[in-house]
Amino acid sequence: MIHDLTTMTSPEAAAAVARLRTVVLPVGSIEQHGPHLPNGTDTFAAELVARAVADRLDAVYAPLVPYGVTPIHAGHPGTVSLRRNTFEALLTDVCSELIALGVRTVVLVNWHEGNIASMNAVATDLQDRHDVTFVAAQACYVAQRLYRDDGGELTHGGGIETLAVLAHDPALVRAERAGEPTRPAGADAMDRMRRSHEVYGFITDVSELADEGWYGNPHWATSERAEAFADVVADGVVELVEGVVAARKARTDPH
Ligand SMILES: [Zn+2]
Repeated sequence: MIHDLTTMTSPEAAAAVARLRTVVLPVGSIEQHGPHLPNGTDTFAAELVARAVADRLDAVYAPLVPYGVTPIHAGHPGTVSLRRNTFEALLTDVCSELIALGVRTVVLVNWHEGNIASMNAVATDLQDRHDVTFVAAQACYVAQRLYRDDGGELTHGGGIETLAVLAHDPALVRAERAGEPTRPAGADAMDRMRRSHEVYGFITDVSELADEGWYGNPHWATSERAEAFADVVADGVVELVEGVVAARKARTDPH
């Protein structure tokens, strides 16, 4: 059962927060995903996984906004980016209100790499100022790890993202319109460079990675795989969320 903040009454929300103390928020983005996927791909993916995570954690589910920080896709129709300050102020306000309501653990389920720096800034700031534990779940990276052996790749508009949209609403996937994306010379190396955990550089325009703004193989996504998508990724996220919560609990309550 999903304890959805938007469908509960005020007394129900008060009771649910008092009992559960944990809230799960989806964090996504509205941006172009080529000719074959909707602009809301990241938001659909984040919401789908976040709802399944909230269900497993027996937590309250609260929406954020569909928008994220995505200047990398500027100029491509359908992209709507928030400025970092706007996004951070919005996330701060939403989380502060939930903390005031009695929430003690906030789990952010994100599906857009451009949001990560802002999410981390807000989470550390609020955790520092309140009696609250923040957990950041990069659901897109969890999916990347879980589907790697099966040939799934996390690329912009590629197999794993197509799978997420198939899971959300198959009518929104137009794989037949995808065509063959092309990539500029050195794009692979640029991708590894930006995603390194050690020393990395930055990409500010998606055309440095892909000529048409997307890449990968949408045809990897099948309806059979899509059926299990939310469960597979949510299970992977929850396992790690529980590890984070247990680590903090052991630190603050050693008995
Ligand atoms: Zn995406």
